Amino acid sequence: MVSAALRDFAWVQSSTQSRWGYKRAAAAVRQLERPLPDVLDAGILPRIHGIGPASTRIILEVLEHGFSPTVEHAIAASGQQHEIARRRALRTGFLSRAEVVRIIAIDVPSMVNVEDYRGDCQMHSVWSDGLETIAQMAEGAMARGWNRIAMTDHSKGLAIAGGMSIETMRRQHDEINALNHTFEGRFRVLKGVEANIFTDGTLDLKGEELAGVEMLLAAPHSKLRLLDDQTDRMLAAVRTPGVHVLAHPRGRMSDSRPGITADWDRVFEEAAARGVAIEIDGDPARQDLDYQLADRAREGGCLFALDSDAHDTQAFIYTDTAIAHARLAGIPASRVINCWDLPRLLGWLDDHRG
Ligand SMILES: [Zn+2]
Repeated sequence: MVSAALRDFAWVQSSTQSRWGYKRAAAAVRQLERPLPDVLDAGILPRIHGIGPASTRIILEVLEHGFSPTVEHAIAASGQQHEIARRRALRTGFLSRAEVVRIIAIDVPSMVNVEDYRGDCQMHSVWSDGLETIAQMAEGAMARGWNRIAMTDHSKGLAIAGGMSIETMRRQHDEINALNHTFEGRFRVLKGVEANIFTDGTLDLKGEELAGVEMLLAAPHSKLRLLDDQTDRMLAAVRTPGVHVLAHPRGRMSDSRPGITADWDRVFEEAAARGVAIEIDGDPARQDLDYQLADRAREGGCLFALDSDAHDTQAFIYTDTAIAHARLAGIPASRVINCWDLPRLLGWLDDHRG
């Protein structure tokens, strides 16, 4: 709520600088490990980078009243009530870091938890739009106690994200094979790829192009602001032979776009029937699926992939966000491919290869 007030206030600022300042404060609040009242009681708020006196005033107002009179007055004076309402609707179903920390700490043995988790299945390296090498990502994963990762750089259909050509993908496979050799079985990098779902539901990779790929993610990156129904597009993607995971299924982005509208229960039913896992993407701006839709996917019988969508090792922390949504949706570890032992995961990947 506090972060939302700061974002609303940012939107109605006339200067770019103050707009940026309040946005930065909102982001700092969302990333706090502890709830704001605790942070205030501990007296550490003034030392948090990005939160200045003007933002602190808004924060105190929200904590006192449940809303900020300053922000509400500014919105009324700006005449942008419609835009603010639209943006507020784009922020539902998101968890702050403090909420994530609280949810993953609750002891409910029947639901997936951090201790069950053995490795992330969506991440990007310098081979596409990531910031670190595959070796660095593997080391970061090992430091977290994981025993495998799937490296899923973008494929050729997404040039804007540095998508790999087929030849580049082959060279990446060579690098991964060599790296796996050095791990001598202690750790495994799976050769994955994040294929792009075109608007007609087909993928940018098919047939022979998928040779050597061990884990195929299919993800939408276009027509994510369209309000028309796109059930057929998503059904076609799920029915494509060889697809293991439907990644960030909606393609929504906090504060920016709603993502795909579809009859999700039909999509989940089809995914469950074909053994395609549904992803909960833990990137804080995505949180896609969120716990409400994930709950319906659980009811529909789906498997799940809980991933960070990391572009550097620091972002592995986003797996916590995915786990928190899964817990709110009541998902047990047995339904989560990240929690299976490696032979079971490899067997499942083999069974579903196109
Ligand atoms: Zn993506």
